[in-house]
Amino acid sequence: QPSPDVHLEGEGRWDEIFDRLYRHEKETRAELARRDAGLSLFAAAGEALTDGIVTLDATERIVWCNHIAARQLAIDPRTDRGQPIAHLIRHPEFIAYLTAADFSRPLVMSFDRGNEEVLSLSMLPYADSNRLLQIRDVTQSERLDRMRRDFVANVSHELRTPLTVLAGFLETLRELPLAEEERTRYLALMSEQSERMLSIIQDLLTLSVLEASPPPENAKIDMAALLDRLHRDAIALSGGRHVILLETPAQDTALSGSESELTSAFGNLLSNAIRYTPQAGSIHIRWEKMGTEAIFSVTDSGVGIDPRHIPRLTERFYRADAGRSRAAGGTGLGLAIVKHALARHQATLEITSEPGHGSRFAA
Ligand code: ADP
Repeated sequence: QPSPDVHLEGEGRWDEIFDRLYRHEKETRAELARRDAGLSLFAAAGEALTDGIVTLDATERIVWCNHIAARQLAIDPRTDRGQPIAHLIRHPEFIAYLTAADFSRPLVMSFDRGNEEVLSLSMLPYADSNRLLQIRDVTQSERLDRMRRDFVANVSHELRTPLTVLAGFLETLRELPLAEEERTRYLALMSEQSERMLSIIQDLLTLSVLEASPPPENAKIDMAALLDRLHRDAIALSGGRHVILLETPAQDTALSGSESELTSAFGNLLSNAIRYTPQAGSIHIRWEKMGTEAIFSVTDSGVGIDPRHIPRLTERFYRADAGRSRAAGGTGLGLAIVKHALARHQATLEITSEPGHGSRFAA
C-alpha cells in the first residue's frame, strides 16, 4: 500500500509528464501549421512568377508545377504529379535536351500548338540532384528578332540592286568610249538609280523619325487648306493623266495633330493612287463626316489589289506587284509610313479593292 505522500508524488510526476507531452504536441502542431503556412506561401510565390516553373526529383519526376507551366506544357498540375517529365513532353527536341543533360544553355523551342508560342526552357539544379525547369515565353522577343533580321536583309537587298546597276554603268562609262548621245542616256539611267536609293533612304528616315519621336503635337489643322494643297500636288504629280476630284462635305470638321505627319500620310495615299491608276483613270479625294468622326479617303479606278495581299500591304517592303511598284518608282515603304502616322493620330487605315477596278484607302 503506497503511502499518501508517495501516491501524491507519483500523481505529481504523471501530471508533469502529461503536461510536457501536451505542450510538446501543441508545439509540434504549431510548428506543422507554421510549415504548412510556409509551404503555401512558397507555392503562392511560385504561382506569382510570370515564368512557368516545374520542380523535378532526382529521377526527373514532376514534384510540383505552377499553373503557367501547366498551361505552357499542357500538363495537369494535380494528376501529372509523380510522372516522369519525359512521359508527358514527348517532343524530340526536349527529349534530346534531357538526354544530353547539358543544361548550360536554355532550349528554345516552339510547341506548335497552333499559336506559334516560342518557349525557352532552362533546367536548373538545386538541393543535390533535384531540378527546376524554368519556362519563359519568348514569342515576342523571337518575333522582334526575326523582324529585325528580315528588315536588315530587306534594306540591304533594296539598296544593293540600284547600287549594282549604278556600279555597272560607271564601269561602262569608264571603260568604253561612248558617243555623246549614249553617254547622256547612261547618265540619265544612273541618276534614276541614285534617286531610287535616295527615296528608299528618305522613307527609312521618315519611318524611324515616326517611330522614335514623342506623340505628335496637338495643333489644330486647317483641313480646308491641307486638302487644297494635297489636291494641287496630286494634279501636278499626275501631269494631266488623270481626273482628280476633291469632295469636302466635312470641310469645317476640326482635326488636330501633326500637320506634316498627316500631309505625308495622305500624300502617300494620293501618290499611290496616281502611280497605280492608268492614264485617263479617275481619283477621288474625300473628307466626309461619319457620325462623330470624319473620314479621309482616296478612291481610284486603278489596277486594284488581289484580296490576299491586302492584310500585308502596310508591312515594310511588301508589294503586291514588285515589278510594277519599282517601275512606278515605289519604295515599298509608303503604306508603312501611312500606317505609323495614322496610328500616332489614333486612326487606322482601311483598304478595300477590286482587282482591275480600283481601290479605296480610308483613314
Ligand atoms: P510602293 O512604294 O511599292 O507603292 P507602298 O507601301 O506605298 O509601296 O504600297 C505597297 C503596295 O501596295 C504597292 O507595291 C502596291 O502593290 C499596293 N498599292 C498601294 N496603293 C495602291 C493603289 N492605290 N492601287 C493598287 N495597288 C496599290
